[in-house]
Amino acid sequence: MRTPSCYNTLTRSLEVIESSPGEERNLSLYTCGPTVYAHAHIGNFRAYVFEDLLQRHLQERGFVVHRVMNLTDVDDKTIRGAHAAGIALADYTRPFKEAFFEDAKTLRLLPADAYPEATDPEQIARMITMIGTLMERGHAYQAEDGSVYFRIASFADYGKLAHVDLEGQRPGQRVASDEYDKEAVADFALWKSWVAEDGAVGWESPWGRGRPGWHIECSAMATGILGETIDIHCGGVDNIFPHHEAEIAQCECAAHGKAPFVRYWMHCAHLMVEGSKMSKSAGNYFTLRDLLDKGWSGREVRYALLAVHYRGGLNFTFEGLAAARTALGRLDAWRERLREVAGGEVSVEAPDAAAEELFAMLDDDLNISGALAVLFETLRESNRRMDQGVCTPKQGRGLLEWLARVDGVLALEPDDLAEGIPAEVEELAAARATAREAKEWKKSDEIRDQIAALGWVVKDTKDGQRISKS
Ligand SMILES: [Zn+2]
Repeated sequence: MRTPSCYNTLTRSLEVIESSPGEERNLSLYTCGPTVYAHAHIGNFRAYVFEDLLQRHLQERGFVVHRVMNLTDVDDKTIRGAHAAGIALADYTRPFKEAFFEDAKTLRLLPADAYPEATDPEQIARMITMIGTLMERGHAYQAEDGSVYFRIASFADYGKLAHVDLEGQRPGQRVASDEYDKEAVADFALWKSWVAEDGAVGWESPWGRGRPGWHIECSAMATGILGETIDIHCGGVDNIFPHHEAEIAQCECAAHGKAPFVRYWMHCAHLMVEGSKMSKSAGNYFTLRDLLDKGWSGREVRYALLAVHYRGGLNFTFEGLAAARTALGRLDAWRERLREVAGGEVSVEAPDAAAEELFAMLDDDLNISGALAVLFETLRESNRRMDQGVCTPKQGRGLLEWLARVDGVLALEPDDLAEGIPAEVEELAAARATAREAKEWKKSDEIRDQIAALGWVVKDTKDGQRISKS
């Protein structure tokens, strides 16, 4: 089987992922991004790492993924934070946006094609247009408080994603807050009219000065960039209701029921820390930076977040991080050993059947436990062969090539491989090779020291120089 499948929250069943008719191998992917009022915590990053694995695996299977991730830079929390800090909203959110991109790089998350920001005037215009369409079609109304609300009673399908039973619930209450009780089936705000606490934050609209609700931000940016129907939409399980339910209501009503908003919904389960819910007061609340400060690497955190299936609850522990460190150490040692066995061998022996098995595991709703089991079984088996001296250079090279393909999906390679060697270091290494050919040993040593000063080590092997991070 070479076709990936996923568990679709909407249909509650396993489905084969296919492109829309006429789209060849194209897939659009929308992932709810961070609200930039603080540093993202490891629970947020668990969802982003799962989405990264999904994107990488789909690409390995030959899909061209068009991915959009939004940045929520205006909502109740960002406004509150800016107000408390006594600075403008944009000045408050900017460092958190920058920190998010840095953290994403540390965790080796592939960049999205676009990161629309909710406060971008172009996006605000899209939101206003969508609200206008909902008003025209009777799906929205302006209340006495000046805010515009979505009329849940106008959309019979409301509740289809969260499988919320609307029977016995009396729609009609209104909530201005973006986040509310799971059980409440309430008309939610599309446009919040300006209040004194908003200060300088606000945009003009046909319904007066105000700001968009969180749900309309995602709906307008997702469909505005990716089109009326999106192939895959991801997020955390806590986004299902009300956020994603509201996104469906807004988009399908704006499209006049012509187009389903999303074909496959995928949601990542919660993360616990040391067995309990992460909270600042319990002292078990971690950002990525907190873990880096404690001496863990981005690669180790990535492994720990990746190694548990996305739909299963992840209990994040320091024991788990230590296990990640051990596992990565084994992979690195294996890679080194394979390099020695492969030597200068370039021709590749066809990889054995086990190699394909790893990707077949991931086809099954990203079965990461199965994939890691195949990886470590391959490691054990080839180490056994190398112990016995029966692993040929061709086989060694074949395994290295396979490992490079696996790295393309799991991204667990050592930092120097992940980052690539800087051009400056490459140039110095080339100059050093020339010096060595000319037997200019002193010069060669000087260049080696220059390379070391840049944080890299150059070793001489029988196949020439090998450069790695010091
Ligand atoms: Zn969203």
